[in-house]
Amino acid sequence: MTGRVRSVLALGSNLGDSHSTLSLAVADLVDSTRVRLREVSPVVRSIPVGGPADQPEYLNMVIEVETDLGPYELLAHCQSVEEKHHRTRDVRWGPRTLDVDIITFGDFSSDDERLTIPHPRAAERAFVLQPWAWMDSTALLHGRLVAELVSGAPDRTGIQPYEGADTQWVP
Ligand code: ATP
Ligand code: CA
Ligand code: CA
Repeated sequence: MTGRVRSVLALGSNLGDSHSTLSLAVADLVDSTRVRLREVSPVVRSIPVGGPADQPEYLNMVIEVETDLGPYELLAHCQSVEEKHHRTRDVRWGPRTLDVDIITFGDFSSDDERLTIPHPRAAERAFVLQPWAWMDSTALLHGRLVAELVSGAPDRTGIQPYEGADTQWVP
C-alpha cells in the first residue's frame, strides 16, 4: 500500500483516569509524522456492552488519522500505545485502561482474524457509531450513513456526552 490513507480509530477506557488516558493516547497515536490527526470526536460515556457484569462505565471516542503506515503497521502502533497505557488482556471484553480498535482503513477490507477491517462489530456499537457521527455527519460504513446506523444500535440509549468527571448519569 502506498500513499496516505485515512483511518478511523476507536478508543475506549474504563479503568483508571479514563479521560486523561484517552487524551494521552490520542497524543501518542499521532506522535509521528507517519500518523497525522485529522479529526477528533467528542468523548462519550457508555454503559458497558458484553463482558463481565458490573464493570465500570466506559469513556469512548473516535479519531480520524491520515497515515502512510500499512494496516498491520498501524495495528502494531495502536497495540504499542495500548501497552504504554498498561493494557492487559485477562478477560474478554473485561475492564481495560485503553482499547484502540481500527474501524476503517481507507477502502481496505480484510477478514483476517488478526485484523478485520472494517471492524466486525462496529456497525452495531453505538459507543463507536455515535461519536463517529458527531465527528463526521457524512461518514459511511458498509455503504450506510453512520449517523443512521446509530439509531439501529442496541446500546444507543446507554450513550451520552461526557461533560467532566463529576457529572451524574442523566437517564
Ligand atoms: P472487540 O474486537 O470486540 O472490540 P476487544 O477490542 O476487547 O474486542 P482485543 O482483546 O483488544 O479485543 O483484541 C483482540 C484481537 O483482535 C487483537 O489481538 C487483534 O489482532 C484483533 N483485531 C482484529 N481486527 C481488529 C481491528 N480492526 N482493530 C484492532 N484489533 C483487531
Ligand atoms: Ca474493542
Ligand atoms: Ca481491541
